[in-house]
Amino acid sequence: MTATAASDFLPFVRPEIDADTIAEVGKVLASGWITSGPKMQAFEDALSQVFGGRPVRTFANGSATMEIALRIADIGPGDEVITTPITWVATANVVLAVGAKPVFVDIDPRTRNIDLDAVEAAITPRTRAIMPVYLSGLPVDMDRLYAIAAKHKLRVIEDAAQAIDSRWQGKRIGAFGDLVSFSFQANKNITSVEGGCLVMNTPEEAVRAERLRLQGVIRSGMDGMDVEEPGGKFNLTDVNAAIGLAQLAKLDAITARRAALAETYFRCAADAGLADLGIELPLPLDPQQATTNWHMFQVVLPTDRLEGGPQQARQNVMQAMRERGIGTGVHYPPIHLFTYYRSLGWREGMLPHAERIGRGIVTLPLFPAMQATDVERVCATLSETCKRLSK
Ligand SMILES: *Cc1c(COP(=O)(O)O)cnc(C)c1O
Repeated sequence: MTATAASDFLPFVRPEIDADTIAEVGKVLASGWITSGPKMQAFEDALSQVFGGRPVRTFANGSATMEIALRIADIGPGDEVITTPITWVATANVVLAVGAKPVFVDIDPRTRNIDLDAVEAAITPRTRAIMPVYLSGLPVDMDRLYAIAAKHKLRVIEDAAQAIDSRWQGKRIGAFGDLVSFSFQANKNITSVEGGCLVMNTPEEAVRAERLRLQGVIRSGMDGMDVEEPGGKFNLTDVNAAIGLAQLAKLDAITARRAALAETYFRCAADAGLADLGIELPLPLDPQQATTNWHMFQVVLPTDRLEGGPQQARQNVMQAMRERGIGTGVHYPPIHLFTYYRSLGWREGMLPHAERIGRGIVTLPLFPAMQATDVERVCATLSETCKRLSK
């Protein structure tokens, strides 16, 4: 086997910033106003249009966005927030940051999203909110989610970090619902390098969000300043907003390209016999009423059948893929088994679907600049690797 040249390496994600966007950044830097200003305002206006005219405010990152959403919902000490363990750890960390308690429930192994039956079973008198995550961009059953929230009078803080342009019954995620948080981190479908936005219900919530992102400061007249509720430093700069605006203009094309590549994945996965090897594919295109934006294409490896077993099989496969010039990722190990969360009482065996999928899930390369031949190579290499590493 010959070593693969570095230039042939296929990463699992690669952000694309074109020359026009770079020129826009240059203009902001030369303009004399480089932090939050007209570009941030324009980005928020454009986002509001995307989300059906609802109020939208931007923040320094998706984690800050979710923390502010929790504060707007008045969630704090003594409150419980029900969420999924298969997500970026920010989802649970922000609940702790406001002094509340994250309550993890198991996932549905088909969607890999929070199991809404388990959500309902976990509701207590202290439950204040549900925080669903749309892993790889796939929404949960939004009708059921909001029916549960209405029945038990709960807020919903949607961690839609991965779900820009995903849809439920044709409606964009964010264009309806309660508080909906998005991230524009570098790996997301559209990026501002770092950044996030929150879609809200009322102008009053938007005013509170503006205060909380800048130390709680309220200005009046030429020189008036007051603070009623202290906030943090979470504003998005015009440099980031200029990048976000340029990316947002390409949203339709990005989503369409990703859907086409996902379709190619399903075809190539069938040709390469991945399912026969025990590899679990994502739900097919347009399952039920939910449309994913294909933020990621994730498979679950049959770790029991592979050398190394549940603890080692995935790293063996990832290493073998890397040696053949293909990058892969892990999104995500289950949060409840991290040391800190174990110290709160979480243990192995409590959330079996999340634990199994957390051990076997692998993110395959998917980004708009990829070609169908790249997808073929990924599927063929994964097939060959799993055959070779089968027990
Ligand atoms: C990216 C992401 C976040 C956090 O966003 P940042 O912008 O990185 O702070 C939160 N939740 C999920 C599911 C994400 O994918």
